Amino acid sequence: MYWNHETECIPRDQLEELQLKRLQQTVERAASSPFYSSRGLKDHAITSLADVRKLSFTTKQDLRDAYPYGMVCTSLDDVVRLHSSSGTTGIPTVIYHSAGDIDRWTDLVSRCLYMMGVRKNDVFQNMIGYGLFTGGLGLHYGAERIGCLTIPSGPGNTKRQFKFMKEFDTTVIHVIPSYALHLADTLESMGVDPRKEFPFLKSALLGAEPHSEETRKKVEEFFGIDAYNSYGLSEMNGPGVAFECPEKTGMHIWEDAYLVEIVDPETLQPVPPGTTGELILTTLTREAMPIIRYRTKDLTSMITEECACGRTHRKITRFTGRSDDMMILKGVNIFPVQIEAVLNGTRGVGRNYQIILESKGHNDHMIVKVEIDSSLSIDDFKSLDKLRQNIVRDLRDEILITPDVDLCAPGSIPVAQGKAIRVIDNRTL
Ligand code: AMP
Ligand code: ZN
Repeated sequence: MYWNHETECIPRDQLEELQLKRLQQTVERAASSPFYSSRGLKDHAITSLADVRKLSFTTKQDLRDAYPYGMVCTSLDDVVRLHSSSGTTGIPTVIYHSAGDIDRWTDLVSRCLYMMGVRKNDVFQNMIGYGLFTGGLGLHYGAERIGCLTIPSGPGNTKRQFKFMKEFDTTVIHVIPSYALHLADTLESMGVDPRKEFPFLKSALLGAEPHSEETRKKVEEFFGIDAYNSYGLSEMNGPGVAFECPEKTGMHIWEDAYLVEIVDPETLQPVPPGTTGELILTTLTREAMPIIRYRTKDLTSMITEECACGRTHRKITRFTGRSDDMMILKGVNIFPVQIEAVLNGTRGVGRNYQIILESKGHNDHMIVKVEIDSSLSIDDFKSLDKLRQNIVRDLRDEILITPDVDLCAPGSIPVAQGKAIRVIDNRTL
């Protein structure tokens, strides 16, 4: 039932003792990176867990400013891997890992998988991107450590996914929720009953993007399986940060590896359990690149009730969204400013634009409405079509997703009284 009983069910007082020891080590280690030493990290004595609040927050922007090596605090000789956030902004946020970091991350992922019932006789099909994105390799290593037959099928190529699932008797899939629904749609249109076609399939991990309880239920009912919510972010390794146990009443967040705070995103003061706020995480076991008080921008709340599964690590609720304007489409992080930068750099584009997100079937779809410059005529179809194609191409290069671009006359996008409403999200979660 437990991958590591001692750690997963550690009494709270012992857990806090361990956290304090690890926090002290982390702060000491982090202080040797150029970024944190410039912040005077050494000036703060950490004698209790509450002392973490004396330290400044770290943001995504800090990671970009410290690019490429400003936050590394070991010799580069000891770094064996880098990963990056799924977005494609000019300056990526890059995370470095030592061999020990990879080992500890893998163990956290195995812990999650074991908790949901994955065992060495399972066939694990990993339908998530391999590469800089952490979801592919992170789960791959975790499943292999348990001893599963691990299929690195990667995302997309739906028919091939089905072929593998059928021919290798896949028992567990790792999939982005919107893609799980797409798989269901495709099977339905093929008239295939998944329970007959994949009789060995028993569970799925749904991760990388926000999704609702209804989405989980749809996936579970259609495939006749159990689906578990999996949360992680590249800055905190990737998958393996928080994960549901079979009780399915929130995600256990692994407090031996991460120090957890939930704060009001405006005042940055702690909120009481049960109140939604921004999740702030400090790595407790990372060697090459510790991160202190990272503002995840993800909104959740703390559950304090003990869990019937016996694990003592607290649970957090399903994420309700983010406190910034980052969009997640097909598991890829996109900021409106990326789109704005492309549009600003394009001749013929006017003043205003708007991003509309929709669900097409179960896929995320983006429409970018762009006002043309007043020097162009809305009736000049030929030049407008060329402009449209250029914008589509440049946006695809920047955000890795192909949007529809809708050109419209200058002044035709309504201007809001206050802050511009750049994104209209009509997606069904
Ligand atoms: P990345 O660093 O590219 O892995 O993206 C991490 C972000 O994906 C997180 O900060 C969340 O906003 C989002 N995310 C990942 N897993 C989940 C999940 N299970 N539920 C909601 N959002 C998620
Ligand atoms: Zn539990």
